[in-house]
Amino acid sequence: MGIVVTAVTAGAAHRALADAVVAAKGGQPLRPVTVVVPTNASGVIARRALGRLVGVAAVDMVTIYRLAERLAGPSLRAEDRLPVSTAVVDQAVRAVLRSASTSYDAVADHPSTVVALRDLHREVRLAGPAALDALARTSRGREAARVSRLTTQRLAPRWYDEGDLLERSIATVAAGGLPPELTEVIVFLPQWLSPLERQLVRAMAAGRQVQVIVGLTGNAHADRDVSELAGDLSGTLVAGPPVPPPRADVGIVSVTDADEEVRHAVRAIVEAARSGTPLGRMAVLWPADRPYARLVEHHLGVAGIPWNGRPGTRVAERLVPRFLMDLLDIDRRKLRRRDLFDLLADTGGRDADGRRLPVALWERVSRDAGVVNGDDWTPRLRSFAAIRRQRADEARATSDIDDDQLADLVGHHLALAEAADGLADHVIELRRDLGRPDSVRAWSEWVDWSVVQIERRLGLSTIADRGEAEEQAWEHTSRVLDRLRHLDGVAEPCRRSEFRATFAAEFDVAPGRLGRIGAGVTVGSLASAAGLVADLVVVLGASEGVLPARPTADPLIGDGERRAAGLQTAEAAAARAHRHLLGVLDAAGKVVVLTPRGDLRSTADRQPSRWLAELGPAPVVTLDSHASALVTTPFPAHPTEHRLRRRATAMFTGAAVAPDGDPVLRRALALRSGRRSDELTVYDGDLTRVRIDHFDRPIAPTRLETWAACPHAYFVQYVLGVRHVDEPADQFRIAPHERGTLIHDVLDAFHREVIGGALPQPGSTGWNAAHRQRLLELFAHVAERFERSGRTGRAASWAVERQRLIDELGEWLRRDSQKVTERGAEVLHSETRFGAAGEVELTLPGGRRVAVLGTVDRIDRVARGLVVTDHKSGRPDDYKELCSEQPTAGGTRFQLAAYAAAALGLVPEAAGVRAEYAFLERGRFERIGYDFDDAVWARVGADLDHVVTGIESGWFPPTPEPPGYEHYVKCWYCTPDGLGTAERFPEWDRKRHDPRLARWFAEPEPEPEADVEVVP
Ligand code: SF4
Repeated sequence: MGIVVTAVTAGAAHRALADAVVAAKGGQPLRPVTVVVPTNASGVIARRALGRLVGVAAVDMVTIYRLAERLAGPSLRAEDRLPVSTAVVDQAVRAVLRSASTSYDAVADHPSTVVALRDLHREVRLAGPAALDALARTSRGREAARVSRLTTQRLAPRWYDEGDLLERSIATVAAGGLPPELTEVIVFLPQWLSPLERQLVRAMAAGRQVQVIVGLTGNAHADRDVSELAGDLSGTLVAGPPVPPPRADVGIVSVTDADEEVRHAVRAIVEAARSGTPLGRMAVLWPADRPYARLVEHHLGVAGIPWNGRPGTRVAERLVPRFLMDLLDIDRRKLRRRDLFDLLADTGGRDADGRRLPVALWERVSRDAGVVNGDDWTPRLRSFAAIRRQRADEARATSDIDDDQLADLVGHHLALAEAADGLADHVIELRRDLGRPDSVRAWSEWVDWSVVQIERRLGLSTIADRGEAEEQAWEHTSRVLDRLRHLDGVAEPCRRSEFRATFAAEFDVAPGRLGRIGAGVTVGSLASAAGLVADLVVVLGASEGVLPARPTADPLIGDGERRAAGLQTAEAAAARAHRHLLGVLDAAGKVVVLTPRGDLRSTADRQPSRWLAELGPAPVVTLDSHASALVTTPFPAHPTEHRLRRRATAMFTGAAVAPDGDPVLRRALALRSGRRSDELTVYDGDLTRVRIDHFDRPIAPTRLETWAACPHAYFVQYVLGVRHVDEPADQFRIAPHERGTLIHDVLDAFHREVIGGALPQPGSTGWNAAHRQRLLELFAHVAERFERSGRTGRAASWAVERQRLIDELGEWLRRDSQKVTERGAEVLHSETRFGAAGEVELTLPGGRRVAVLGTVDRIDRVARGLVVTDHKSGRPDDYKELCSEQPTAGGTRFQLAAYAAAALGLVPEAAGVRAEYAFLERGRFERIGYDFDDAVWARVGADLDHVVTGIESGWFPPTPEPPGYEHYVKCWYCTPDGLGTAERFPEWDRKRHDPRLARWFAEPEPEPEADVEVVP
């Protein structure tokens, strides 16, 4: 009686287990046998192996903790004690640090201190009281041991941990409390057992036999800890496995980096599957979750290969925990607009009663309302709604549109008003739910709050719709919340931020398995591969620093203290990794070991693992690059790789790509070569084969100007309807466009009062003091509206800017007064819309007419006819060329012509018309304009003809400026990241010479050089 240790190689482990089970049954097939396995997954694999080898009945597979739970759990729970969780231990450690003076006082509040002490405490608890005493005798470990002891005392009345389970189990077994079904016990492939676990095995072996099957590799370093364990349990040191079977067919492949490793692994799997190996007999294993777990999940997913095992996505990244963590944190930075919409978009957006929210509409409305964060929500949204309702009223009072258009316009304004009010209500309700950030609640209250928020704002049906992984995460979240509910017994009520931090800490664990073992490729860590049987195993990350891993520094104790206390050392961890690697060779028919030469994430070189030399005589195959790996692979992993390979092969060999059967590749190649060519193609602005009617309705002159500036911008903005979205920023100053709008609104209100008779016309003396007084009153009114809607920037800068605007308007009045006096002007129209019904037209040389529309700022009647004014708040630099000889500045400006035509339409009896841009302060109140006569109209017609035919030609090339420093991004279409058009410009520089574009885009002839007199 006692412990009998059998040493086997990994490949022979299941056979040895089958023999041990048969021996334990002693000819009675239904005699219960318990097999203690290292992991649940290895238990499933072992059960299947037993089924194949000897048949299986009455064999129970349990981990050692499950066994201890069975032996001691009921008695511990009978004492009203609950299983401890990470959060509970954290709270207990925190409470100890707060209540007792320790050498960690200076860093007691830092989360890392709690985490380090908690991890060491749990390790020491598994090692047992003797280990704690030994640690307490070391100088560096003394304080950590004291904190651990105090933590245990604090937890003991209400909680139990793995250490309690093991200790109670040992006591139960020693007292003869081993149930009959546990009399036949086999410990299968133990990886390393803590002192308490060893004691439990020894206790079970008292008076009966316990068989221990250890897996050895034959390598002394790799087998070190298992040999020591076997010797410790049985009293004799196990020298090594009997006769190792022939090693697996091993291939070592050196690739560029981790991504390429995983791509190669997937290709190896595809290749093996094509040769008939079932996916369930293959595995991909890695020494470290980062970066491999996520990469493997991704690349297998891209190739459509099913898998089971460790997912790359952490549980905390799944919907429910992510939602709750984001919600608990949503107002950390003053409830930023971006944070709220990230949350709503991520979760699908439901209100507290589970109804779907109009998230996209709310996003637009809040952006238009200028909401940035906390203080903006209610005032800006309410103000926005009021303005929209006012616009609806104004639209109803408008007589120049038909009933259908009016209904649409009014409906549009009211829908936006309603959305703004709805969003404001939602934010108020959300804030009410969240409460103040510093408000304190009991843990159980926070848990109840969380459950309500998840069910109402997310909806259980949303979770169910998202598949197995999300459902598992929801179950995990429920368990975590359940554990946190019990913290009321150990911890004081807490703030929302503390509840969130503790909730997040509970997710700081390795994700559980996904999928059914045997269904698809098994993926996971090398450490989890104990008992694995496979035809093909791909091992990733065989490089120094990963396999073995670089030792991590323990912030509390060193390896000396660990050794003294019988805790795991970094050296032992490396030996274990060595054993895991060699064990795979014994358990698989074929092994591909991948070694990366670099780490692109940290831009560091990687050296091959020191253990590669032990893997056999196979030479290392080096794949130079992703391209060469793709070209040499027997069979690419998925359609994209097939396409890339065909392209790469063609490049390397000069052979033609034959993409006929592959429309995706054909189009991709055509796009590439099209954009690289010297001609404009369908991939960069040739729409000559597409019929678009640009002039079937009136067109705004600004559209014509946009085409003249850049045809591609016209195409993207007006044909495709794509517009750059401006994110409302916390503006320091009023934005230039808002400033311009404010001035326009004030001038419009002023002119309307003059036209309506509330103010007198300027007459022969111009504007007077009463006009000035009213202008300033109107400014105050409009400015207040802008302030309310958050469009004036920060208060301090607005105070300065406000005075500047008052001065600017005063100066405008003075200058305009001079002008109207000089001209004897009478104001007839202000902000007058025109052309919607096609009644305003410009005539092209052949007699064709183009209808235009827009809004003209002001029309005055003067002695010689009409003067049309368009106010500009910017600089006049781009308008300097305008004159009667160049009325459109070379076909780039059509506003004045359209306004002049509109004015003549409104006042047909006028003798003539003059149109002007009237610049404000930034343009030094300059006026640029000209009188219209037949010759001017003819020039406008000719210039317009050039643009109209250009638009109708179907050429819409991007015409970027040469790259250079810009204060701001003028146009985002070719530079969506705002980093400039440096790559676009050379393309245009080549294509602009396409002769088909010459009529519109030929470069101007260079000025002839002046004769130079050469002086001898
Ligand atoms: S970024 Fe430049 S080239 Fe591109 S569409 Fe805009 S203006 Fe044209």
